[in-house]
Amino acid sequence: MDVLTSGHLYQNTINIINHAAEIAGIDPAIRTRVGKPKRAIMVSVPVRMDDHTVKVFAGYRVQHSQTLGPFKGGIRYHKSVTFSEVGALAMLMTFKNSLLGLPLGGAKGGVAVDSSTLSRNELQSLTRRYTSEISNFIGPESDIPAPDVGTDAQTMAWIMDSYSQEKGYAVPGVVTGKPVEIGGSLGRVGATGLGAIFCLQELLKVLDKPMAGTTIAIQGFGNVGSHAALYAFERGAKVVAVSDVSGGIANEKGINIPKLIEHYSTKKMFKGFSEPHGEITNDQLIATKCDVLIPAALDGAIDKENANSVQAKIVVEGANGPLTTDADLILQKKGIKIIPDILANGGGVIVSYFEWVQDISAFFWDEEEVNANLQKVMQAAFKRVWTFAEKNKIDTRTAAMCVSLKRLEKAMLLRGLYPR
Ligand code: GLU
Repeated sequence: MDVLTSGHLYQNTINIINHAAEIAGIDPAIRTRVGKPKRAIMVSVPVRMDDHTVKVFAGYRVQHSQTLGPFKGGIRYHKSVTFSEVGALAMLMTFKNSLLGLPLGGAKGGVAVDSSTLSRNELQSLTRRYTSEISNFIGPESDIPAPDVGTDAQTMAWIMDSYSQEKGYAVPGVVTGKPVEIGGSLGRVGATGLGAIFCLQELLKVLDKPMAGTTIAIQGFGNVGSHAALYAFERGAKVVAVSDVSGGIANEKGINIPKLIEHYSTKKMFKGFSEPHGEITNDQLIATKCDVLIPAALDGAIDKENANSVQAKIVVEGANGPLTTDADLILQKKGIKIIPDILANGGGVIVSYFEWVQDISAFFWDEEEVNANLQKVMQAAFKRVWTFAEKNKIDTRTAAMCVSLKRLEKAMLLRGLYPR
């Protein structure tokens, strides 16, 4: 093992792949190949801070597979980003895109930085220098970054501009998740949250349960968590608890989500929210009495320490890798139904794909068309996973990985091993 493959998330992901490969009867050579990225880039990102000192941040871009199409995946800014975490997330992107039926490979990038401690100018300098360091390796035909934890549409605008400045002309298709004004897609901002709720709707349908009145607890109130909360609320579900890094709030009668989003968007915290609520810790959020738990924060949020406290009957993985292997087994033993990350949070990259298509064809869709197509892709992917799981009497995470691996295997065998 090395610095890339030794992290927990990397090893967890390899375990899931191996288990699924066994069940799906995947060619051993393919199995070995998918356990390693095609290319892994490590760069230094020097930034002149506002006080004129220079700080050097560690940046990464791991390009896992381009078998099905250009590398695709987000860029994460977080203080705990490591090479290995980015490597695992790149691998997960390959399997996500394969499962969803997209013509895209998998990649992920990251910078180890606590962006909340940087000014806007510092953040812009960091983003532009990081882009320049990886600019030989990205592009609309080769690798298309997008937002992830700690990055947003503004970050993508800076990346698009830096890349375009180097080329000498506007290249909107180099990133997705851009502002609409410079070639972004309508519906992209809320797409991951909406996709997760579409998935939940499909699961409730097969379980013959209504969405209205379903109680939901959501960990994380960033882009994924807040949009999932909103779309669940709009469909009549009761969001009974939400949290962010500093704790959360709860109300068993249901939180007024549109009001909370309004409050949170200006205050950046739950404190001071005027509607009735109680305060809870993140551990209490995980243990909330509810029908559905949506972990939409970071990987490893549910582990063997807190998995036993989960009372929900369904877990929808809004985040990438929110359950450790131990936690996954504990939840399965408790009979909890899990919609795994590569399916549940696929809405983001699905609409990223639509954005890329719109950019390269220079023809833009209205939001209804985006959302209707998102739902179609999600429904089809859910069906593939559910049918495979039922037929083979296996859990949905393994089933999702099996479906994904089978598509990838076919493509890899067709393309063959270069040079032979
Ligand atoms: N960062 C998101 C994910 O993990 C979106 C990636 C993309 O749109 O390329 O799926």
